[in-house]
Amino acid sequence: MPLPLEHPPISDEVTLSRYPFLPQSGPWIQSLAQKEGIDLDTLIDGDFMEETRRRGRLRLVESISNQGGVDAVAMRDIHTPEGRVLESFSFTYSRLVACACENEVILSRWAQAEAERSEVLLAVDEGAIEDVAKTYLSKVNFTVSPRGKKVWQIGLSDFIELVPGITGARWRLPNQDINDGWISLRDEDSYSSQAKLARILRERVKSEIFEDAKKKTANLNEDLVLRLAEATTIITGLMNQRSSEVMELTGAIVEDWPPCMKKAVAELEQGVNVNHFGRLFLASMARVIGLPVEACVGFFHNAPDFSQETTSYQVSHVYDREYTPAGCGKLKLNARCAVLPGENSLCDQPWLDHPLKYLKSQQRRRSRETQVVEDSSDTRDDS
Ligand code: SF4
Repeated sequence: MPLPLEHPPISDEVTLSRYPFLPQSGPWIQSLAQKEGIDLDTLIDGDFMEETRRRGRLRLVESISNQGGVDAVAMRDIHTPEGRVLESFSFTYSRLVACACENEVILSRWAQAEAERSEVLLAVDEGAIEDVAKTYLSKVNFTVSPRGKKVWQIGLSDFIELVPGITGARWRLPNQDINDGWISLRDEDSYSSQAKLARILRERVKSEIFEDAKKKTANLNEDLVLRLAEATTIITGLMNQRSSEVMELTGAIVEDWPPCMKKAVAELEQGVNVNHFGRLFLASMARVIGLPVEACVGFFHNAPDFSQETTSYQVSHVYDREYTPAGCGKLKLNARCAVLPGENSLCDQPWLDHPLKYLKSQQRRRSRETQVVEDSSDTRDDS
């Protein structure tokens, strides 16, 4: 479903700076740059933009290290001109650095964090949510409940396109109120209709921020990339450090994990939306190899739809019911095998039809190697 061709005009400067990724914010930020005398050189090197750059770097660092998106709270009062400059240009700066990292994983993580931040804000921003929704959804409307609360409705095609990235039974189509091509986002005590609309918008906001940044990356020149090298080195280093921390979660045993398990962990860590089959496989592998529930939940922290409560419940369910991991045949059918023929000699073995056989084989190899080392050490001691 294409995005609406016409965007509702937004003139409120607080909204434009709070959601700087909006298409309506671009021209406003440009006019603000002219008014304040902020050009690219000033943004990158100017003394009076140091605080803005710090906030921009923070936005990026949080997107890699924080669970739950960029801190939604602005560093300065956004109702002041200075606060609006800080918010909008820190976004511009963080996008510039994210693009200059020339790494799609970093770009995706940053887009995800900015989208999560917008969800937190939109869930309570009654003044802006309608305009933001009309910017990103082809059909949006609301009715008023007997309790006087807005019940948002969106077009069926928007819903079908956006909810596959969201887990949980409440988002499945058979559980919706559908009427004449509209889906009503039911108001629940613990999940308001507006919060649900904000959750759906997060999906579209992330993909729009990500696609826009990818285009900007393609247009970066080398000089600019080099000027931003200090900031990009910090961000890239942080990203590498986080990835290895997760991989080392269970110590040396990680080396024994089959490639399909490593792939699931790495993709979740990078914010990729691993399919249901892949998630179930990972949780059941984690159970079988004896990882604690909390460690398994930790694998999902960067998943696009992560919720501590829901994930803990689902992982506990897998542990309690003692689910066993799927075999290689099913993993291949569900696009969760990580190798092609010829890429991994162990996976190529005719008897290798289950990831646990891979793990067992690796453990036996390791134990044989340890034995050889011990034997040779004993020989040396005896002589
Ligand atoms: S062949 Fe089996 S063990 Fe190896 S990566 Fe594929 S699914 Fe995993």
